[in-house]
Amino acid sequence: MTTKEVLTELRKKNGLTQDQMADKLFVTRQAVSRWENGETTPNIDTLKLLSQEFDMSINALLGQPEYAICQSCGMPLQQFDELGTEVDGGASVEFCTYCYQNGAYTQNRSLEEMIEANLQFLDQWNSSQGTNYTEDEARKILTVHLATLKRWKTK
Ligand SMILES: [Zn+2]
Repeated sequence: MTTKEVLTELRKKNGLTQDQMADKLFVTRQAVSRWENGETTPNIDTLKLLSQEFDMSINALLGQPEYAICQSCGMPLQQFDELGTEVDGGASVEFCTYCYQNGAYTQNRSLEEMIEANLQFLDQWNSSQGTNYTEDEARKILTVHLATLKRWKTK
C-alpha cells in the first residue's frame, strides 16, 4: 500500500471527513485532499501527529508491511526524523534525511561511492546484526543489496 492509500483508508476507517481530518492535524482540507491524491505527502511533524493520533507506526504510515529502508543508502527508516524531505516540505516516503533534502539527493554519488561510504559503518553493522563480515564480504553483499534500491536500479 502507498502512503496516499494508507491516509485515505485511515480517514475513512475513522469515519472522518477531509475537513475533520484537517482539523485534527492542524492543516487545511486542501492539504488532506492533496495527500489523498498523491500530489504531496504530510511533513514530518504531521506524520508524528498522525502516528500519535491514530497509534500508527512509521512503517504503517509509509505503507511498508515490514520495514522501510532508504532507497538510496539502504538505512532502515525507523524514526520520523530520519526521513528526507520533498521540495514542498513534505516528508519523503522513500529516502533518508542524509541522502535526500528538498526533493534532491544531498550528494552526487555513484553506486561504488555509496558502497564505500556504507563500508565505513561496517563495525557498527556487524555488532548490530551480530555478524562478523570482512570488508570484502560486506562489499559483495552491499553491491547486491544496493543495486535493488530505487536510486541504483538499472532500467
Ligand atoms: Zn539514505
